[in-house]
Amino acid sequence: MQTQSSLSTGIMPDEMSRPLIRGRGGGGGSRHLEASVSEPGAPVIGILGTGDFSRSLARRLVASGYQVVVGSRIPKRSVALFPEEAEVTSQMEAANQADLVFVAVFPEHYSTLVELKPALAGKTLVDVSNGLQINREGPSIAEQLADLFPESFVVKGFNTISAWTLQVGPRDGSRQVFLCSDNQKAKSSVMQLCHRLGFIPIDMGLLSSAVEIENLPLYLFPSWRIPVLCTLSLFTFFYLYNFLHDVLHPFVTAGKSAFYKMPIETVNVTLPSVALVMLALVYLPGLCAAFLQLCWGTKYRRFPNWLDQWLTRRKQFGLCSFLCAVLHAIYSLCLPMRKSTHYKLIDTVLKQVKEGKEVSWDDDAVWRMELYLSAGIMALGLLSLLAVTSLPSVANTINWREFSFIQSTLGYCALSMAAIHTLLFGWDRAFDPARYHFYLPPTFVLVLILPLVVLLGRLALFVPCMASRLRQIRRGWEKSRHIRFILPDDDCQNGLEGVSNV
Ligand code: NAP
Repeated sequence: MQTQSSLSTGIMPDEMSRPLIRGRGGGGGSRHLEASVSEPGAPVIGILGTGDFSRSLARRLVASGYQVVVGSRIPKRSVALFPEEAEVTSQMEAANQADLVFVAVFPEHYSTLVELKPALAGKTLVDVSNGLQINREGPSIAEQLADLFPESFVVKGFNTISAWTLQVGPRDGSRQVFLCSDNQKAKSSVMQLCHRLGFIPIDMGLLSSAVEIENLPLYLFPSWRIPVLCTLSLFTFFYLYNFLHDVLHPFVTAGKSAFYKMPIETVNVTLPSVALVMLALVYLPGLCAAFLQLCWGTKYRRFPNWLDQWLTRRKQFGLCSFLCAVLHAIYSLCLPMRKSTHYKLIDTVLKQVKEGKEVSWDDDAVWRMELYLSAGIMALGLLSLLAVTSLPSVANTINWREFSFIQSTLGYCALSMAAIHTLLFGWDRAFDPARYHFYLPPTFVLVLILPLVVLLGRLALFVPCMASRLRQIRRGWEKSRHIRFILPDDDCQNGLEGVSNV
C-alpha cells in the first residue's frame, strides 16, 4: 500500500528524467509518475475495480495531480500494476476515503457493491460502463446504478474514452467526454476533472440522456448503411449488365470467349457507372426538396421521412462515389500493363500490315480520347476537393458560404464533368445499332439518364421565375394566406394538418 508521504518525497532526480508513462503501448511501465504531487484541496478520487480502465485512469489522474485511491476485492493482487502514488486498498476503504468515485466495474457486478452504500452516500459516482448491445427502451445502466445508490449522485461519462486513450493522453484519441447527471454540482465537479485531464466535457443534460451516451460507442456506421447498400446494389446490377453485354453476348452469338474481361475490364466499366449514378444521387434529393417547396408554396411543411433521411446522407453518397471514381482511375492506369492489351495491339498492327494498310492516325479517335481523359481527370480532381472539404476538420475552417459553394457549385461542376467524360466515351457509338447487344442499350447510355435529369432539373431552377420564387419561399414567403403546419409524427403519413390564419 502506498502512503501519502511518498507523493512528496518519492520523486528522485533520476526518476524525474523518466517519461510520463514508460513503455507506452507495451502495457508495462514505471510505477512512478512525474507531475504527481497532488494539489491541496483537490478532491480525493476513488476508483472501484482494478481492470484496464481503472489502471489507465489512475495513471492519468496521478499525472494530473490528483490523489487517487483504488478499491479492489483483493488489493494485494493488483497493487504492482498501479503507480506508486496511487493507494490500492479495499473497496470499503476506498469508498470511505474518496470524495468522487469512478465505478470501473462491469455493470453485471454492480449489485456486489451495495455494501458500500453508506460509505458512498452523498458522494459523486461516475458510471463509465458500456452495455453489450444498443438499448432503445431504457433504463440505462447509469439509471440502474442511481436506483441502487439513491443517496449518491450518479454522473454518466467517460464510457466513450478507451483505456488506451486514457493511457496515451487525449491528444491521440477523441477528446470529447459526454456527461449527464440529475445533480448539477456533481456534474460540474466531473466536468472540472475532465478539463484537468485534458478532455473536453460535453454536457448532455439530465441522467435520462445516459441511454444515448451508452449507445454512442455501440453504433456501427449508422449513417453509412443505406449509401453502402446502394453502392453494392448498383455495383451488382451494372456488373451483371456489363457481363451480359460484353462477355456473354460475344460468347453466345459468335462463340468468342471474352471471360478474361471479368476481373478487370468489366469491373472497370462498372466502377464509373456506379460513381456517376451515386454522384447524381447526391444532388437528386436537393432538387426533390426544391421542387416540393415550389409545389407546396411553403418551406414550413415537413418533407417525407425518406427524403429527410436521404438529405442527411448526401455526404456518405458522395464519398462512396469518390471511392468508385478513384478505383476506376487506378484500374484505368493498369489497363495498358495487361498481357491482353499487348496481344490486341500486336494483333491489330499485324492485321493492318497483312491487309497492306498503313497504320494510320485517326484524328477523330485521338481527339475523342484526349477530351475524354481530360474531362475524367477534371471530374476526379473536383470530387477529391469535395471529399476533402467534407472532413470535419477541414469543414470547420471554412464558413457556410464557402462550404456550400464547394459542395453545391463545384459539386454540380464535378457531375457535369463526369457526364461529359461519359458522353465522350460514348461519342457516336450510342447511335450504332451493333452496340445494342440483346437489344439492351450500352452501359454509358443507361448511366447518363439520372445525371442528365439532375442537371436539367438544376438548369430549370435557374429560370428566373423559378429561382426568385424559390428564394422567396426560403425567406419565409408562403403561397397561402394561412400558415399550414403538420404536427410531427414518426412516419409522417398520419400527421395531423393544422391551419392557422395570419
Ligand atoms: P476489467 O479489466 O475486466 O476490470 C473490471 C474490474 O472490476 C476487475 O478488475 C475487478 O477488480 C472489478 N470487480 C469488482 N467487483 C467484481 C466482481 N464481482 N466480479 C468481477 N470483477 C469485479 O474491465 P475494464 O476493461 O477495466 O472495464 C471496467 C468498466 O469500464 C466496464 O464497465 C467497461 O464497460 C468500462 N469501460 C472500459 C473501457 C476500456 O477501454 N477498457 C472503456 C470505456 C469504459 P478487483 O478484482 O480488483 O476487484
